[in-house]
Amino acid sequence: MAENHPPAASSGLHHITAIAGDAQRNLDFYTGVLGQRLVKKTVNFDDPGTYHFYFADEVGSAGTVLTFFPFAGARRGVRGSGEATAVAYNVAADALPDWQARLARLGIDAVASERFGAPLLTFADPDDMAVELVGSAQPPQVRHWQGGPVGEEMALRGFYGTTLQVRNAAPSAALLRDSFGWHEVAREGNRRRFAAGAAAPQGNAAPGQFVDIVELPSLPAGRQGAGSIHHIAFRAADDGAQAAWQRHLAAAGLGVTDVRDRQYFRSIYFREPNGVLFEIATDGPGFLWDEPIEALGSALRLPPWLEPQRTRIEASLPALQVVGV
Ligand code: ZN
Repeated sequence: MAENHPPAASSGLHHITAIAGDAQRNLDFYTGVLGQRLVKKTVNFDDPGTYHFYFADEVGSAGTVLTFFPFAGARRGVRGSGEATAVAYNVAADALPDWQARLARLGIDAVASERFGAPLLTFADPDDMAVELVGSAQPPQVRHWQGGPVGEEMALRGFYGTTLQVRNAAPSAALLRDSFGWHEVAREGNRRRFAAGAAAPQGNAAPGQFVDIVELPSLPAGRQGAGSIHHIAFRAADDGAQAAWQRHLAAAGLGVTDVRDRQYFRSIYFREPNGVLFEIATDGPGFLWDEPIEALGSALRLPPWLEPQRTRIEASLPALQVVGV
């Protein structure tokens, strides 16, 4: 193993990407209800007739970025094994009752519970994707978006983590532990929690520090559709670190892709042993290189290779009303 070890452990989640149905409804929920900023409005580079929305803190800090491909009329996905099934955000523990009240006022039913000693609220987004708010005494600092409907004391503080549902936890756990350099920090029934670095189960300095693996041996495979999480992305500090990951994953027989230019980061993809699609994304260049901070998300951004088709692409995308920006 030693000769095929990546040079640095991944320091946390970079972004999570999911599939939505109606674009406007998705936009309204993540900005208007959860107070996330639309930091980038672009298209699916592999399918330019579909939007790609990026919701994050004010600047799109790594570990705060939830992205969606909204497909009008998309069939709803079926949760199953071999996929990520929940997106968890950090909030201040004090803010959880206010969140429960806010969600109830907006007609969203949130269930309060506790996991590994931390309080949490669980609810569904409009496409039935599970969203969790995990309370901690000292949630990570992010760049709060002042233009949103949620005050700083209630603000989402980036990802807490995500949950993977798998039929056999052992090989996925081994990947996180041996390749990613993460540590198992808690176990409860069939749920095992892995943390980047030496983070404790509660309280952490950076967002996106936890991945839970839930083992359900007889669960059928999921079917991707609206409300499904498409992939989760881990951070690589730079291109060199990503290249080292690519060599490591290829040597481990994991079928990693070549580097794809996603304009705001560069990406490689592979399927972990239970079939969950993983990505390793560079921290740079980030979301500020093609728009000033005050204008993030306000115009449709296209990569250079799609600019010649802008008129046709704009005509094929549904019109959106962006409020509160
Ligand atoms: Zn991605």
